[in-house]
Amino acid sequence: MITDYERLAAMNKDYLWHPFTQMKDYYHSEPLIIERGEGIMLYDVQGRAYYDGFSSVWLNVHGHNVPELNQAITDQLGRVAHSTLLGMANVPAIELAEKLVGITPKGLNKVFYSDSGATGVEIAIKMAFQYWHNQGVHGKTKFITMKQAYHGDTIGAVSVGAIPLYHDVFRPMLFPSHVIPYPYAYRHEGGETGALEATLTALRSLLETRADEIAALIVEPIVQGAGGIIIMPPGCLREMAALCRKHGVLLIADEVATGFGRTGAMFACDLEDVSPDLMVIGKGLTGGYLPVAATLATDEVYGAFYADYQDQKTFFHGHSFTGNPLGCAVALASLKLFEEWNLVEGVRTKASFVESKLAALKDRPYVGEIRQKGLMIGIELVRDKVSREPYDWAERIGVRASLRARELGMLTRPLGNVIVFIPPLVSNEAELDAMTDILAESILHVT
Ligand code: PLP
Repeated sequence: MITDYERLAAMNKDYLWHPFTQMKDYYHSEPLIIERGEGIMLYDVQGRAYYDGFSSVWLNVHGHNVPELNQAITDQLGRVAHSTLLGMANVPAIELAEKLVGITPKGLNKVFYSDSGATGVEIAIKMAFQYWHNQGVHGKTKFITMKQAYHGDTIGAVSVGAIPLYHDVFRPMLFPSHVIPYPYAYRHEGGETGALEATLTALRSLLETRADEIAALIVEPIVQGAGGIIIMPPGCLREMAALCRKHGVLLIADEVATGFGRTGAMFACDLEDVSPDLMVIGKGLTGGYLPVAATLATDEVYGAFYADYQDQKTFFHGHSFTGNPLGCAVALASLKLFEEWNLVEGVRTKASFVESKLAALKDRPYVGEIRQKGLMIGIELVRDKVSREPYDWAERIGVRASLRARELGMLTRPLGNVIVFIPPLVSNEAELDAMTDILAESILHVT
């Protein structure tokens, strides 16, 4: 007799095409099929328990199956599951917008909803582009991005993306962007100072010579996520923001990964007191419960669109599910928990605990660098600690470590040779202790 797992596993292979997955590899693996979650644990259909060590792709905040969040959705379901924001509003969308304006960097006063980080980025790009157009400045049509940047998978977001593995195949269909170096101190011969200088020099010279053709700079503030959890040297973001301001180029902060407490501040921009012109949030906005994202804009940006209809300055953009009431209701409940549980402050304490535990890994021969900002951690493995020679891509060291972690009861997903540890913000000390032990053991196993 075939088990429930076998039935689901066969259908999974027959019918599903998984994201970011070579299906040939996947086809030959034993699929993990999640059935339920509780706290920071996920349980598969065979009853095995796993720590959610990467917050279900960096978005889970309060754990799974949280009574307060479930209740918020149930309450809203009893009212209305969806109604459009085209020409009308709904209660949670309004209340959430007011809350978001209150907690985001000063100056961001208008909220435009969407349903994923990528669509939020798409909106920011289009807004920046049309912002200049609406003011009769027609030459400012290009964007600056950073090496190894990741802003999502829609065409605009890919156009400002700079991870060759993901993006190069699409180049012929993309709009070209200027790419400046990201300050990757570990891989820069001048270390932190050299890396910082290289980034700022490149940005400065681009802005001094071509600001008249550049609409905006888009940046993952403080931590570059998918590029390998790479942390900017102190002062970098602030200086980049100042340069943009000086040269009349908009700053788009993509806080999809870094937002909502992840770095130890509500938003990474807060760490350097930076107020961008446009900011994109997603992932943790609903506590990681439902697909809602938002693009916030300053009055200055909003004002460029505010005109008589015949002036043709309207922002013609929107999605069927823009401002979904269920998503907005759960986001409101999530923000309430942030306050009640004092989560952001808690992240800083937990981060110190994790840092002290991971310190024991530093001297391991194949641990090149441990990078951490709050509860966003990447461990770069190298073949040679002295020369920093990377593991060959084909060795799949990160994948092997993650599979070992899974055997030991923790889920995570690597970024090349970088092992990722991004636990839910509510993880307690005992859970963090257990997860970091698994992390250490899985690295030991593969190196
Ligand atoms: N921007 C950043 C910085 C991200 O890390 C991601 C996803 O990881 C995105 C945008 C895209 O978000 P989504 O996957 O919700 O489209």
